[in-house]
Amino acid sequence: MSNERKNTIIWFMIVIGLLLCVLGGRLGGGASGYSLLQKGGAILVIIGGVLEFTLFRCPHCGRSLGRKRITRDTCPYCGEKLD
Ligand SMILES: [Zn+2]
Repeated sequence: MSNERKNTIIWFMIVIGLLLCVLGGRLGGGASGYSLLQKGGAILVIIGGVLEFTLFRCPHCGRSLGRKRITRDTCPYCGEKLD
């Protein structure tokens, strides 16, 4: 899987998660607190956030690639190819 595709999937998860949170809030969770939609949305956002931090590391030297991952095919630190 390309880094661009991973990036897209993660952003989709975060955006959809946020939408679910907002939608769940509008529908109202009643007296029971947070609705199922909000919980599901929050989980999606959390998973997306965790993936954002864990997935985009160089598999060779382990350094975080940050935003550089989008435009590069090789690690800017060790020069190895990213996949
Ligand atoms: Zn590296």
